[in-house]
Amino acid sequence: MSDYYNTLGIAKTASADEIKKAYRKKALKFHPDKNPDDGEAEKKFKEISEAYEILSDEKKRQMYDQYGKSAFSGGGMPGGGAGGFSSMEEAMRTFMGAFGGQGGGGGGDFFESMFGGGGSSVDAPQKGTSKRATIHISFEEAIKGVDKEISITNYANCETCKGSGAKSSSDIKTCRTCAGHGQVNQSRGFFSMTTTCPECHGAGRIISTPCTACHGAGRNKIKEQVKVPIPAGIDSGMRLKMSGHGDAGVNGGPHGDLFVYIEVQRHEFFVREGDDIILDLPIAFTEATLGTKKEIPTPLDGSYLLTIPEGSQPGKVLRVKGKGVPNVHGQGSGDLLIQLHIETPVSLNQEQKDLLTKFQSLEGPHNSPKKKSFFERVKSFF
Ligand SMILES: [Zn+2]
Ligand SMILES: [Zn+2]
Repeated sequence: MSDYYNTLGIAKTASADEIKKAYRKKALKFHPDKNPDDGEAEKKFKEISEAYEILSDEKKRQMYDQYGKSAFSGGGMPGGGAGGFSSMEEAMRTFMGAFGGQGGGGGGDFFESMFGGGGSSVDAPQKGTSKRATIHISFEEAIKGVDKEISITNYANCETCKGSGAKSSSDIKTCRTCAGHGQVNQSRGFFSMTTTCPECHGAGRIISTPCTACHGAGRNKIKEQVKVPIPAGIDSGMRLKMSGHGDAGVNGGPHGDLFVYIEVQRHEFFVREGDDIILDLPIAFTEATLGTKKEIPTPLDGSYLLTIPEGSQPGKVLRVKGKGVPNVHGQGSGDLLIQLHIETPVSLNQEQKDLLTKFQSLEGPHNSPKKKSFFERVKSFF
């Protein structure tokens, strides 16, 4: 005897909403209209409906939590005993109570998800399935733009039968079971329900002699080479839409699309931040102190002579306008930001040490204004 919570696949602490959601999901799977003549599905449907009947009722749930299923044996509870729901009718009643009509709402949406679009007509054109692919490109390719080719497998309409799936047009007959509607009415207990025609599986037509090229599917799998023009300025995570490069549509519907996701490789020196590019530049402390000119690389225009002003501090960012990444939507370009990393000299020889010691003796507080102000503030702290 399984546990009601396990039956619905929920935790003992599940909320009323979670219980209903779990029941809905399972009912979609095991509903008899989706599983005609399937004894196992019918049994499952009864089990989940019984579990829902108990757990959706606060009082019954409390009793169940306390005493288990024995709380309901021999009483007037569903099924009249611990054996659970004995008839499909009871299970259907629970089901209809939860989702069917009665002004409660939710029923319509339920049946739509069960039968894939409710009352839509049989031959309605449907768009083909869209696909996704990922293209890896280098940093340079991302900022300059590049054309890439990718190979994808799509369904295309069969050339031989033009997508009909039949050998000739006279081999397509209207389904007699549903008179071409694709759906039939079935009564179940008190309820009449519309279900997909078991004969034609909703197509409304029967093909007597299928097309030999596609075996009646109306579509073939083909390999397609798609040229993807990647615009300059693209970045990781951006997506390009290649209209019409997905599967062929059904019943004359449009092709699906191909969505290409871009992954850009990291660069050795440059880091992107939107349309700006950051370059970490190590310089000697003498260069930072005295000022200098440095030839630096730019991502698009070769080298650039950068002026580092006298007295530059660690972490200072110098901006070169317009030398960043061209905006992918064509709105100008970002900037190149150079962040200065000032390196303290190491492995000094005696002569260098002597010179610096001499420099130290000549150093005044005005040479290090931050240091001066810090120690003045610290004094007042003590
Ligand atoms: Zn064909
Ligand atoms: Zn039919």
